[in-house]
Amino acid sequence: MEQEPEEATIEEFKEAGKIGAKVREESRKLINIGEGVLDIAETIEGMIEEEGCTVAFPANVSINEIAAHYTPETGDEKVIGESDVVKIDMGAELNGALSDTAYTVDLSGKYGKLVEASEKALENAIKNIKAGVTVGEIGAVVEETIKGYGFKPIANLTGHRIATGMLHTGVDVPSIKTDDPYEMQAGEIFAIEPFATDGKGFVSDMEQVEIFSLYMPGKLRMRESRKLLNHIISHYGMLPFAERWLAKEFKSRLLLKNALKEMLRMQVIKGYPVLKEAGGGMVSQKEHTILVEEDGATVLTQA
Ligand code: MN
Ligand code: MN
Repeated sequence: MEQEPEEATIEEFKEAGKIGAKVREESRKLINIGEGVLDIAETIEGMIEEEGCTVAFPANVSINEIAAHYTPETGDEKVIGESDVVKIDMGAELNGALSDTAYTVDLSGKYGKLVEASEKALENAIKNIKAGVTVGEIGAVVEETIKGYGFKPIANLTGHRIATGMLHTGVDVPSIKTDDPYEMQAGEIFAIEPFATDGKGFVSDMEQVEIFSLYMPGKLRMRESRKLLNHIISHYGMLPFAERWLAKEFKSRLLLKNALKEMLRMQVIKGYPVLKEAGGGMVSQKEHTILVEEDGATVLTQA
């Protein structure tokens, strides 16, 4: 029988949070006009490793109407533009303990209110978190705050409960009022991440997929696919990984593409398509990992 992984301690979650916060703050100096997105992502991932953590998921550098799940591809030549709104989303892992944190940089200064809307929504959400509060009630706080700025929350992007080795346990924290009765419990850990937009208020999948994770066991016919599967299991486990990470190990781009294709078809892995605001609106995001307490919440990714 397979051995269940031991649960990470609260202390380890606190440490993963502290490192996430440190790297997040240090990464701000990288977000400049003309800077390459590939360089930014790789530098952030390197900083997480230098702190003694594992990169919990590929660093996301999602720009303007791209809300989430954009991580640069191999050879990506995209650079930060002078009026870009850049979301940086990163995660650190330490013995199964995870942190997940994000922020937005408004390069032109024209989207200050949009950035403030998601920041304030996060702040208000955290103020309202304590044992017994429902995730739907937190969604209502996020929605009300963002609408108060004249923007819309992105209805189909949510926060999520985190557990040892699992970024998403299946419990969502909506950004809109819902009647979801799930009550937060003391000792539980959540990533809270409001997204605000001046667009339609929901995202849709793009064709581009750069991030994947293991999904279900299945039969693979191609030798290259089986080799890739072993690599994924031993290096990333259930955590998300980027195609560009694999490209470093698998020299043939075509063989890698075909192996990924077979694994997706057999549902051995799943892909996380790049998510774009459906109305082409600008998007801001702010995220912290928090610990629910009896009478409040502790931000684990506080700088
Ligand atoms: Mn995140
Ligand atoms: Mn998250």
